[in-house]
Amino acid sequence: MCCSRIVYRALCIMPLAVYPASFDPITLGHMDVAARAAAIFETVILAVYDRPLKNLLFSTAERAELVSAAVEHLPNVRVDTYSGLTVEYARRVGAKVLVRGLRAATDFEHEFQMAHLHHRLYPEVDVVCLMASQEYSLLSSSAVKEIAALGGNVDFMVAPHVADALRCKYGREEAV
Ligand code: ADP
Repeated sequence: MCCSRIVYRALCIMPLAVYPASFDPITLGHMDVAARAAAIFETVILAVYDRPLKNLLFSTAERAELVSAAVEHLPNVRVDTYSGLTVEYARRVGAKVLVRGLRAATDFEHEFQMAHLHHRLYPEVDVVCLMASQEYSLLSSSAVKEIAALGGNVDFMVAPHVADALRCKYGREEAV
């Protein structure tokens, strides 16, 4: 084991982080946050939230499959699904860090409130927010779905297998 790896291991006090999200579907922005979290934590679980209070396009199994294919090149990233409170899931898997992405001031309000609620429900847990990379800062799953539903090209917003899944969902397979 090289020196830098030993130092890294000594400093790595939080080995496990959970990145919980709807991922409906996973975008290049989510993938960017996942890759950056994977460089910080020893293991990252991308946890697909079963039933968020919003209309979903993809089933839980479909979302998990799309997420798995999107992060298969990251050896320390795992994919799971969960229902119920995010903090209960974190407690169950033994994670004390939740990772979230911050795109804009509007995200901040929401994430700030959620972080406080999570901390209140499970004081051992802390939320680590990664700033969205500039190229993905205007990217959202809802924008992806809206454009795909209207037949627009989403290749610059999602991985190729996700673009295929969207075309399939909206009955536009011929465009592949
Ligand atoms: P939610 O989990 O709130 O239902 P999403 O699945 O869309 O919503 O997003 C999950 C997390 O990923 C949130 O913290 C969100 O801010 C972050 N996120 C979404 N899109 C991006 C992006 N383009 N860049 C960075 N972070 C993002």
